[in-house]
Amino acid sequence: MNAQLDLATVLLLHKSSFLVGAFCFLYARWQSPRDEGLGILASGFLFLALASTLAGYGEQKLLPAYLWTLSSFTLGIGGYALFWIGVRRLSAGRRRKADWFALSIPVAGAAIGLATHFHVVNYVRASVFNATAFALLAASAVAVIADRKCEPLPVRALFAAAMAVGASLCLAVVVGLVKPGIIPITTTYAFFLSIICHFAIAFFALVLVKERAEAELRRSADTDALTGAANRRWFLTQLPGSNWHGDCLIVMDLDFFKRINDRYGHHAGDQALIAFADLIRSSLRKGDCFARLGGEEFGLYLPQTSEAQAFAIAERLRRAVENLAVTSNEQPIALSVSMGLAAARGNESSWEDLFNRADAALYEAKRSGRNRVTSSSSAPTPTSTSMEASFGRAG
Ligand code: GH3
Ligand code: MG
Ligand code: MG
Repeated sequence: MNAQLDLATVLLLHKSSFLVGAFCFLYARWQSPRDEGLGILASGFLFLALASTLAGYGEQKLLPAYLWTLSSFTLGIGGYALFWIGVRRLSAGRRRKADWFALSIPVAGAAIGLATHFHVVNYVRASVFNATAFALLAASAVAVIADRKCEPLPVRALFAAAMAVGASLCLAVVVGLVKPGIIPITTTYAFFLSIICHFAIAFFALVLVKERAEAELRRSADTDALTGAANRRWFLTQLPGSNWHGDCLIVMDLDFFKRINDRYGHHAGDQALIAFADLIRSSLRKGDCFARLGGEEFGLYLPQTSEAQAFAIAERLRRAVENLAVTSNEQPIALSVSMGLAAARGNESSWEDLFNRADAALYEAKRSGRNRVTSSSSAPTPTSTSMEASFGRAG
């Protein structure tokens, strides 16, 4: 298809691809104000569109050579520097003030150009420009891949690949200028491929923003807003549908929590809930599931854990809660928790069976004085009405 395109048309499309990319970034920035990198990416693409326009006018002899060569070179390098800053900011989702020093690259390029006039020699200007573009695009690709450790979004690989292809094209141009004939692609074809890259980069940047928003939504749907622990919805999705054998469930309920609220105020009660959840979350093993089930009640699911092990874990946590230092107006708040433990026997027909046994054990822990762990294997089975009267969990 590109064989039918003349260079002037491809140059126009090249400039248009930057403009379309810039408008995509601006639209996404408007929709998602937290992703600040998008605004910088848009300005980078606008700089590149302007540089491309000036170069186009220059090629048509509409501008004097000394003017268009230096201005398009400086704006183009500035565009790639802004692009690199924007990608790093978008990818990491945080500000990196030192990145702005990248703008010293176009400033230095312009100063050297003014001093040496290297920019008026076409192949020198094109080589320096494409070598710098290669470095900045490659560095952008590396940043997107490196940030996957903090935020593993599926689109990162494709986004980085689009920038890596763009970087390779710039490198190919440099090699072609330094050693003509070595690279088997025409200038028109290189421009055609880079147009595709610009569209791909803009598209994958938008997909990154979308994937980030979806991950955020999923996270908030599964998280309890007060404590930051997982919520009941998430907890239930983590429980296996069958084959419970060898697993344990612990239901925890803070003791006399209503009194804490009454005595120290609701805010202090909230702080106690947060401190409690943080303590348990920091004590978990890999694979353990912990969640706030509602109010001052929490669940802990321990896969492949014997009843004795689960009891020891629960007892350790109970003691840690007893020693937890929560204060309200510098007054210490005494906190304790009762726990009901149920070890799966393998004959449960659903998770509700296991929950009922853990609830019964919790009821027994409350009945026999609170601040203790009771296992369902040792607890007598109370009537459901007496349990509901005790702590009214909706199930
Ligand atoms: P027990 O030892 O029998 O469990 O007594 P309790 O007072 O803890 O139990 P009860 O069910 O009577 O009271 C639970 C209290 O937990 C009442 C409710 O206001 C409080 N609570 C539930 N959710 C929150 C919350 O998000 N923040 C605060 N501050 N309090 C909460
Ligand atoms: Mg309670
Ligand atoms: Mg309760």
